[in-house]
Amino acid sequence: VLEAVGVTKRYGDLTVVDDVSLRVRAGETISLLGPSGAGKSSFLRCLNLLEPFDEGHVFLDGELLGYRPHRGRLRELSDRQLNRQRRHIGMVFQQFNLFAHKTVLENLVEAPIGVLGVDAEVARKEARDLLDQVGLADKEHVYPAQLSGGQQQRVAIARALAMHPKVMLFDEPTSALDPELVSEVLDVMKSLAASGMTMVVVTHEIGFAREVCDRFVFMERGAVVEVGAGASLAVDQVTHERTRAFLSRVL
Ligand code: ATP
Ligand code: MG
Repeated sequence: VLEAVGVTKRYGDLTVVDDVSLRVRAGETISLLGPSGAGKSSFLRCLNLLEPFDEGHVFLDGELLGYRPHRGRLRELSDRQLNRQRRHIGMVFQQFNLFAHKTVLENLVEAPIGVLGVDAEVARKEARDLLDQVGLADKEHVYPAQLSGGQQQRVAIARALAMHPKVMLFDEPTSALDPELVSEVLDVMKSLAASGMTMVVVTHEIGFAREVCDRFVFMERGAVVEVGAGASLAVDQVTHERTRAFLSRVL
């Protein structure tokens, strides 16, 4: 369970995340929708503590992220402690951010070995299983540049999964892809959701959000406007006028 409570993020006078509370249940997949500039990426980065925020709290399985109790008060974590918490949260970005000078397999085993201290042989075995899972079993020895965008993004997903995250956050994972490569990435995400992974997905793929996500969250100007069942993502089924207006623009 990932829970945001009253998260607020400002840049000077501009409030880009405005008192957002959201409870993502274990095994749930949530789509985060909204126009450009709504604060979707900013909120996602708050969830991952990539972005320091001004008010509110984020809890993962009941543990307050970013702080620890110290003599009856809360004290900010060191970077090292922060990274320890953060590794439970996998993140996939629009740009795949793979290590260009490492092979696919090396990309996958780097953090499990370096950060978790997993035995190299065990890490390689797991990495191969994950590559199989994302349909890239035959690509372990190639470099990212030799892969299509869709393949690179599937490697990025496998790499995040190699850390055994409790939650996966996706920020427009298919927006940088050629149209014909979008579905191979969405298919991987779909089976991940079906396998019980807890996921928050910023996406403009309304069909995916409707079909795969349990709930949708529609944001505008930093605030949550409407939360509803994923299956109800249709112009005539959402309840808020702003959500309807957004959907009629994008559908
Ligand atoms: P998009 O769909 O275009 O990705 P978004 O919903 O992800 O949009 P954010 O990237 O979170 O939106 O941006 C929300 C607001 O925060 C925007 O008005 C943006 O200009 C502003 N913003 C983001 N980063 C900064 C920054 N480093 N400094 C100042 N303003 C910022
Ligand atoms: Mg964004």
